[in-house]
Amino acid sequence: MHRVRVDFLQESITLTAREARHLRVLRLTPGDIVRVFDGHGQEAQASLVRLDDELAELRLGALVDAAPETPQPVTLAVALLKGDKLTDVVRASTELGVSRIQLLSTRFADVPEIGNAKLQRLDRVAQEAAKQSRRAVVPVVLRPIPLSALPETTQGFVAHPGSTSRLTALLDWSVGPTLVSGPEGGFSEQEIALLRSRGYHAVTLGQRILRAETAPLALLGAIAATGV
Ligand code: SAM
Repeated sequence: MHRVRVDFLQESITLTAREARHLRVLRLTPGDIVRVFDGHGQEAQASLVRLDDELAELRLGALVDAAPETPQPVTLAVALLKGDKLTDVVRASTELGVSRIQLLSTRFADVPEIGNAKLQRLDRVAQEAAKQSRRAVVPVVLRPIPLSALPETTQGFVAHPGSTSRLTALLDWSVGPTLVSGPEGGFSEQEIALLRSRGYHAVTLGQRILRAETAPLALLGAIAATGV
């Protein structure tokens, strides 16, 4: 069934011209049922009451069970990567259940900053990936902060080659975990020491060195493979 992201689940919903065009492409007609979700975990049925060139109007129906989320929200803190690599990370990590994506500037980050246009694109990518993976939650993508601004936690995990601890052995859902993944050049020893002092455990992702865009997905994949 077609799913549409809306700002609020309210009695009468007017869609953007873009969504209206999409519904016409799908050959939907008044009376057809779609699903609407608010990006924060609520999902409902809605019936199409009007569809013309620029406008689509829906009437809200019954709430439905949204796809289950992880027991606590999972945050991915990922170093700034160049080209389309962040786009790929946002898309796949949304499919893998992340709730927040915190971009990080680090000593060896591939690029020093990221523009507003790129941030907006990452938001759209998260929205599309949530729609495709049937999630009713759209992860938020937060503008970059320095690694030193990451708060203390008891459930932080930093992927660092050469570590021996395993994420799934330490994971405890009493607190939402924060997973930290580095740039192509890795983290400096000072950065690792700082994260350790804030409660982050250095963890392994196996004996091979993964690319910077692969490592976040291995962290999230390890959690997803526990069946949550
Ligand atoms: N020479 C860099 C180093 O030794 O850290 C390699 C960096 S790697 C290309 C990019 C990031 O992916 C790392 O900072 C780390 O967060 C993660 N990573 C890659 N392979 C890993 C592994 N086998 N175990 C843990 N983390 C890994």
